[in-house]
Amino acid sequence: MDISIAVATGNKHKLQEIAVILGLSPESIYSSRDFEGFLDPVEDGESFAENATIKAKALAQFIQSQHPHHPFLCGPGLKLVISDDSGLEVDALGGRPGIHSARFASTELGIEGNSPDSSNNEKLLRLLSTTDPDKRQSRFVCVIACLPLNAPVMNVQTFHGDCPGRISNTPSGLHGFGYDPLFIPDGYEESMAELGEHTKSKISHRSRALEGFKKYLHSIL
Ligand code: IMP
Repeated sequence: MDISIAVATGNKHKLQEIAVILGLSPESIYSSRDFEGFLDPVEDGESFAENATIKAKALAQFIQSQHPHHPFLCGPGLKLVISDDSGLEVDALGGRPGIHSARFASTELGIEGNSPDSSNNEKLLRLLSTTDPDKRQSRFVCVIACLPLNAPVMNVQTFHGDCPGRISNTPSGLHGFGYDPLFIPDGYEESMAELGEHTKSKISHRSRALEGFKKYLHSIL
């Protein structure tokens, strides 16, 4: 059966990773940028799952009310809106930055919304500068929320994935985004940004959350 997916994100790295993991062709995956006028909702949930649900519902409602004739909704097949809320939890920081990962350095930079990856990474290294190497355990966490637009059951489902690892002392590697240059997954010596897309797509929090999503898809197809 044909499937079209709209991902409630403007983050091109996330979109690319999701497309690779799901094996979707460019014609069957859309981002929130494909729906003119869509504004990201305020993410005021208290968990990854709450924020993922807020994002999926906001985009689904917007598409149905503002773009009922959009190519995404036309033609046969299953239409799904999904979202990804994700971040980094560091044990020595009591789980921070957690759901605030994208805006970790915003307050000290005096800006609204997300802060640049470089500033977030600098802040993380500063806060961990006196933390022993063996106490730098952390994990990437991802929750995928899925809202089918034309399935028999149209409630939101969430799927959780995580990827354990540790925070290194210095950034390294050029692939990926966010905290990837500082994150060394368990079982590896290189950072996620050194390992690159192929390895990341097999071990990441995002790929693990999408495994659950794929099983759900098979169950409704
Ligand atoms: P969100 O877009 O509100 O879900 O925020 C996600 C933030 O978590 C990103 O801006 C990154 O800082 C961080 N993050 C999530 N997933 C990854 C990843 O795969 N690699 C590196 N950082 C990530």
